Amino acid sequence: MVKAEGVHKSYGAAHILRGIDLEVQNGEVFCLVGPSGSGKSTFLRCINHLERIDGGRLSVDGHLVGYRQKGDKLYELKDSEVAVQRRDIGMVFQRFNLFPHMTALANVMEAPIQVKGESKAVARERAERLLDRVGLRDKMGNYPSQLSGGQQQRVAIARALAMEPKLMLFDEPTSALDPELVGDVLDVMRDLAESGMTMIVVTHEMGFAREVGDSLVFMDGGVVVESGNPRDVLGNPQHDRTKAFLSKVL
Ligand code: ATP
Ligand code: MG
Repeated sequence: MVKAEGVHKSYGAAHILRGIDLEVQNGEVFCLVGPSGSGKSTFLRCINHLERIDGGRLSVDGHLVGYRQKGDKLYELKDSEVAVQRRDIGMVFQRFNLFPHMTALANVMEAPIQVKGESKAVARERAERLLDRVGLRDKMGNYPSQLSGGQQQRVAIARALAMEPKLMLFDEPTSALDPELVGDVLDVMRDLAESGMTMIVVTHEMGFAREVGDSLVFMDGGVVVESGNPRDVLGNPQHDRTKAFLSKVL
């Protein structure tokens, strides 16, 4: 589903991603861990067209992100073509970024109506089903300010799912939550994983990575230091940098 080959990204003189190689299979839960500043969010942002890579190749579902290849040449996609690629990717951030002036239901209905031109009735039916699925059947009419952080994050997940993405990106979705609210969000993510969704999850929740993850990559300094089955990498890390990181978070 996602293939990165020698992906580089700089911000001015700061060389952040220094040759990322990894492959995410269809239906896989792929966990990305690493110290602050190692480039995890930058990598997710590149997948979701929020940043453009400077070198290497990055593809989602067989399509180069932001480019089309003809012969040996790469051509930048037009904005309208980028928009089509982005529709297939859902992203959930640390901060929930809900529209504050809209109810939970309206938040989940918004993108299919605005982006896909879907009818209100169809969008509402799906939004109700998704909010029910994330355990918020009785909160559909609440505004974000009337929801807990964990509830807001579950609305954000439902909102991303409303576009029926092929791939979901999660950037530390529970790290802004009070500890007692983390479990409900992880349960929704576990349910999504069981439904077969392809997911890339940046997280410090090593229990989730171990139980739900199919693969785990440890990133540091803009490169993949170590990767494999989460139980193996977490239980028996091979590199000193991985060991040092895990000794702090486990
Ligand atoms: P964290 O665990 O703290 O979220 P991260 O692994 O997600 O860290 P990134 O957010 O990808 O790290 O940032 C990697 C580096 O890139 C950091 O040094 C950061 O300061 C820098 N950086 C990120 N975004 C920008 C930007 N828009 N302009 C300049 N530098 C940036
Ligand atoms: Mg980050």
